[in-house]
Amino acid sequence: QPSGSSKPPKPSFSKQDLQHYEESDFSWSKEVQAKLCNVFQLSKFRPLQRAAINLSMSGKDLFLVMPTGRGKSLCYQLPALCSKGFTLVIAPLVSLMEDQLMYLKSINVPAVTLNASSTKEDSKQVLAGMTDKNSPFKLLYVTPEKIAKSKLLMSKLEKAYNMNLLARIAVDEVHCCSQWGHDFRPDYKLLGILKRQFPKVSLVGLTATATSNVLKDCQKILCVQEPITLTAPFNRPNLYYEVRFKHNEDCTHQIAELIRERYKNQSGIVYVFSQKDAEVVATDLQKRNILAQPYHANMEPSDKSLWHQQWSSKKIQVVVATVAFGMGIDKADVRFVIHHTISKSIENYYQESGRAGRDDGSADCIVFFGFADIFRISTMVVMENTGQQKLQNMVAYCQNVDRCRRAMMAIHFDEVWNDDECNQMCDVCRHGNDYITMDITKHARDVVAIVEMASSMDEKLTPLKVCDAWMGKGPAKHRKTLKVTSLSRVEVESVIIHLLLHGYFSEDFSFTPYTTHFYLKLGRKAALLKNDNHSITMKMRRVMSHATVKKVSESAGKNSSAKVEGKRPADSDDKKSVAKKVKILP
Ligand code: ADP
Ligand code: MG
Repeated sequence: QPSGSSKPPKPSFSKQDLQHYEESDFSWSKEVQAKLCNVFQLSKFRPLQRAAINLSMSGKDLFLVMPTGRGKSLCYQLPALCSKGFTLVIAPLVSLMEDQLMYLKSINVPAVTLNASSTKEDSKQVLAGMTDKNSPFKLLYVTPEKIAKSKLLMSKLEKAYNMNLLARIAVDEVHCCSQWGHDFRPDYKLLGILKRQFPKVSLVGLTATATSNVLKDCQKILCVQEPITLTAPFNRPNLYYEVRFKHNEDCTHQIAELIRERYKNQSGIVYVFSQKDAEVVATDLQKRNILAQPYHANMEPSDKSLWHQQWSSKKIQVVVATVAFGMGIDKADVRFVIHHTISKSIENYYQESGRAGRDDGSADCIVFFGFADIFRISTMVVMENTGQQKLQNMVAYCQNVDRCRRAMMAIHFDEVWNDDECNQMCDVCRHGNDYITMDITKHARDVVAIVEMASSMDEKLTPLKVCDAWMGKGPAKHRKTLKVTSLSRVEVESVIIHLLLHGYFSEDFSFTPYTTHFYLKLGRKAALLKNDNHSITMKMRRVMSHATVKKVSESAGKNSSAKVEGKRPADSDDKKSVAKKVKILP
């Protein structure tokens, strides 16, 4: 089971070792530096790039873990230029390779590709070039499918290997090997053949996914004995993280306001759940005079590249996209990434939101957290082994009101960031005292009773039905016997989410030929509520509604006596005094 808390692989590589590889007195250092400036036209290395290049030039196997956009490609492209022969690069997407090839062409680096869309003529030339002592190209990009399926390619690689022309193997997006990653691709599983056949060639695996179990898995699959893992810090200090409650009618309106006002003339991405949502939200934004275009997997390739291009050149302001808009985006000045729907995991959220602010200028990452969306995603990931757990972590991130959002993300990367490193660059740190602690035991008993009763009548309830029933809007037969709650809709939703996250409810899927339904059933901890001494508290945003505060001041005492409206700047003393009174959740 993957879990964020498992320890990273033991550091076979010490700080001192690292320092050694940060030096610039290797035999190749002069050439490396010269090519950095003259070919890549870059003035200096970013953190860890030099060490990665030196390690790779020394023939070490290497896993390089760096956030997206930080410059991993350079770490194999530059060594490729400074070595005899060519470097084999495995990349998951043809579009990704084409972007790279276009870039390399623009800086006069000879690079070629072999993929499903290569013509016979091109393939022939490439295959011949592989065993040409004059190395007509320094980089050969292939898809993993090619390795798996083309015996001709393998035989040429073997020949090149024997001629010492296969300089290096780079596996880009190496997490695609592992089913535990967020982007598993079956053909990556077969890449172990490379290290088995060509053991003398060093391999560099590149990814932005740092979870140690994913890396260990990749190492095994690729048959790499003792790779050195370099991990760049994942904290993106220039990104402001915020979560907003989503009230459906109002969400697109809020997004439009933000784009028109706060992000006037700035580029951004709005991520949505489905292709249909992409069309609908894009149209809605267009109606509000925003230059927006949809982007999803099911569009004409020509439209996709057109919108991508127009967005890159600021002819359109916003791309309303599904997650299909991702890999290969290399726009530096993205000022906002708004999630119209939560991501299916924190890893995904980090990646998607991480497309903001690559130029190191400040940028905002806002996610709209909607009740119904949770269950849409839950049924979508129902087939994935760890899908529900990952989604729950994402939901917990959104539901969270008292922990730094950076700190919550860090857990997933086996990193520890403390709140200081946030610098008030998340809504929690900025408005830290904006929550109250609420005893929800009674509410929990009431809502659990609804699900219990339905089940005794052999009925299944969707979360929305449970909300309705609890608020007295359900069918009459339920209403008679049930206690109608005095909580507001958002509170009702928050309580149900809390109970789901903490095991009082659990998911009960049902499959029809057309769709998967999500029902609520009692969870493993529901029985605890029969015990009079059992209590549940939860933290809720204070600004949720006026009604909340009144009720809470009855149940939670002093905590809620503070002002209701207006976000006050975080005040650490105040934050602590609130925190001290808070009971630890079960
Ligand atoms: P990754 O693969 O890590 O997501 P890329 O290799 O695609 O990132 O690089 C992202 C961008 O960063 C590219 O535009 C690249 O030119 C730029 N870049 C890489 N290294 C440097 C550097 N040392 N200084 C400035 N820009 C760099
Ligand atoms: Mg990359």
